[in-house]
Amino acid sequence: MPLYRGVNMERNGHEMDSVKQSGNLLGLNLAELEDFAVSYGQPRYRGRQLYHGIYARRVRDFGGFTDLNREFRESLSSLHQITYPEVQREFRSHDGSVRYLFRVGDGNSIETVSMPEENRTTLCLSSQVGCALDCRFCFTALLGGKRNLTAGEMIGQVLAVAAAESLARTARLNLVFMGMGEPLLNLPQVLKAVKILADSKGVGVALRRITVSTVGITPRIEELAREPRRPKLALSLNASSEEQRSALMPINKKYPLAELLRVCRAYPLRPWERLTFEYVLLEGCNDSDADARRVADLLRGLRAKVNLIPYNSGPELPYRSPPFERVLAFQQILTDHRIPAFIRLSRGQDIRAACGQLSLEGLRQSALPASAS
Ligand code: SAH
Repeated sequence: MPLYRGVNMERNGHEMDSVKQSGNLLGLNLAELEDFAVSYGQPRYRGRQLYHGIYARRVRDFGGFTDLNREFRESLSSLHQITYPEVQREFRSHDGSVRYLFRVGDGNSIETVSMPEENRTTLCLSSQVGCALDCRFCFTALLGGKRNLTAGEMIGQVLAVAAAESLARTARLNLVFMGMGEPLLNLPQVLKAVKILADSKGVGVALRRITVSTVGITPRIEELAREPRRPKLALSLNASSEEQRSALMPINKKYPLAELLRVCRAYPLRPWERLTFEYVLLEGCNDSDADARRVADLLRGLRAKVNLIPYNSGPELPYRSPPFERVLAFQQILTDHRIPAFIRLSRGQDIRAACGQLSLEGLRQSALPASAS
């Protein structure tokens, strides 16, 4: 039987191509799985059963689809899989966080960090392999930009960690797209993943618990604003002036701070929502009292909070975190200006969990002779 007969290739061409190449059904949405079932001569509702099995019941073996007829199950088993990214290495921090190095289909590596808190677990997800944006302080930047992840590879990070940590479907999760990559340069796949992740009939994570973090690709922020079911937005501010930001984040030359703040002021926040501005504190670069006062000026009147992130350092880059008193002083100036500011203590410092550090090590180790690693 021709495999993809009946599939609406115009709408689903890209996904179906990737299913054809890899056989992996992970990442297909409901409409695509319905079309897929029809291409096998099955009724459309079989697609819904597949969707429910893959994302809600988290079945990985077609034998587990006892609600499908045996003949369909057998053709699925011979030609398809439900494959999660493969755990290559995992590192446990004494603070409870775990970073995973995953191998994705083409042999590339990505990383995901899981951070358990009192009554929920936050997963920091990657959206791209490497990153092309070249932020000076960022370890992922050292890898360069390789490719976008597919929706299936993003959802797969969540399902693979949930499986590794035996997290039930009812476990409360926060998802933040703050791992490797720039999610707004992969917006269609990120939104596709978010819709499946936030679907109560899919993976079932609360939409309000999903955050996308960006360097500030302003046209993409405007596009996100038009999405009815959109995740929360975090913006990596990281500097207090155009000049300083361009030096730390070259993308600021293309999408300057002034334009970013204009788009933020126009962003249609939902009643319960506020914007998050992330500010990585780099000793002697952006951490002075004058910086804090300028940040307060920039954000005046915005419904926003600031997350201050003491820098997670590593031997590859010269930046350091300021002493904690400086972090507190910076926070105090913001709160004095009525800007809510929180200190985000870096988790997993002992396991080098900052964005990109793990994959960099992976690269370095794979460049060494086997006996040395
Ligand atoms: N490209 C997106 C998401 C990935 S970076 C973005 O820039 O928002 C996620 C956050 O981690 C950003 O705020 C970034 O400034 C911060 N970050 C990157 N490297 C870091 C490090 N070594 N220590 C602390 N924060 C870091």
